[in-house]
Amino acid sequence: MNTQDFIDREDRYGAHNYHPLPVVLDRGEGPFVWDVEGKRYFDFLSAYSAVNQGHCHPRIVEAMVNQARKLALTSRAFYNSVLGEYEEFITRYFGYDKVLPMNSGAEADETALKLCRKWAYKKKGIAQGNAKIICCEGNFHGRTITIISMSSDPDARNDYGPFTPGFISIPYNDIGALKEALRDPDIAGFLVEPIQGEAGVYVPDEGYLRQAYELCKKNNVLFIADEVQTGLARTGKLLACDHEGVRPDILILGKALSGGMMPISAVLADDDIMLTIKPGEHGSTFGGNPIAAKVAIAALSVLKDEKLAENAERLGHIFRDEMKSIKSDMIELVRGKGLLNAVVIRPKNGKTAWDVCLAMKDKGVIAKPTHEHIIRFAPPLVITEAQLREAIGLIKEAFKLFE
Ligand SMILES: *Cc1c(COP(=O)(O)O)cnc(C)c1O
Repeated sequence: MNTQDFIDREDRYGAHNYHPLPVVLDRGEGPFVWDVEGKRYFDFLSAYSAVNQGHCHPRIVEAMVNQARKLALTSRAFYNSVLGEYEEFITRYFGYDKVLPMNSGAEADETALKLCRKWAYKKKGIAQGNAKIICCEGNFHGRTITIISMSSDPDARNDYGPFTPGFISIPYNDIGALKEALRDPDIAGFLVEPIQGEAGVYVPDEGYLRQAYELCKKNNVLFIADEVQTGLARTGKLLACDHEGVRPDILILGKALSGGMMPISAVLADDDIMLTIKPGEHGSTFGGNPIAAKVAIAALSVLKDEKLAENAERLGHIFRDEMKSIKSDMIELVRGKGLLNAVVIRPKNGKTAWDVCLAMKDKGVIAKPTHEHIIRFAPPLVITEAQLREAIGLIKEAFKLFE
């Protein structure tokens, strides 16, 4: 089978809910992936930042395989011998009293919303059914019906109504709008991405998160950070909130929490908030399973042992400087933090971000447009400076093709 055969088979039997770049990947190692024809690529998407630790990191693979041989799943109907080890590890790692383990990022976001509402009724004293949560325009928190009820993206929402009520949407990076919205006494929480990833890597003004956090504190409102994409060393700190010294009341993690091995997500909070959910009131068959527990411990250990946040911070500057130095009238803007970056593309002679991605693919770098005119560049954080510079050379060659 060649590349086209693989693509045709997916088209024939799979739902058409994605529009992939025409490359069929077969193998991965560190910052590299290989297609079915043996061609090597630099992976500059990292599965939407799920493989921060690089593809098939040997320590994470070993943790997974060893536990898979021993005990895979018990459900939470019983205790298991590794969940407690993981819970102790991750709560100390991030400095919270408790963790609630889930699977996908969307589930963790849903969990945070439920937790926030529970807290609103049990602790804040909002009247039943009245709790509201503030979200931001341009957000991406996943694909469930409640989550898309917060979305302002027509592709995410169209024909999926009716929607879940209880959300107030305000412009992102607008402290005045937050201040105004917080005047409503029924506000329970403010859900925010420290950098809006899917929207196109929108980095808010310096001080936005800190001011937003302080406003939430003043109004007895929970500051809920969705760090599913920005967290875990991606932006040059362990959490993107760390750039402003903000400690979210509820912290949502996913993606790289498994280093890409399997869906693992988590919600972290202190007892005052987390213990408002009682036995039987929330759960997941696979959440906190023994394989996930061992994989997450390994994935988090790799981040620190290999200093991946420091690497992301240092290489991020190099990447942005180099991209800004490219003389192409298709490059409108370069922005980002650490190794979460985006280039805004100005279409030229009918050529768009998609065409640039196709050209980069031919040169050996794969990335994907988000929202038509933006290309996100987010390589695995294990990439070395020499590898990064090699990839930048290939990206420059691709842009030259449009001159
Ligand atoms: C990817 C993402 C999610 C959803 O994660 P899934 O595992 O795809 O459900 C939620 N929030 C943010 C910020 C994300 O980037």
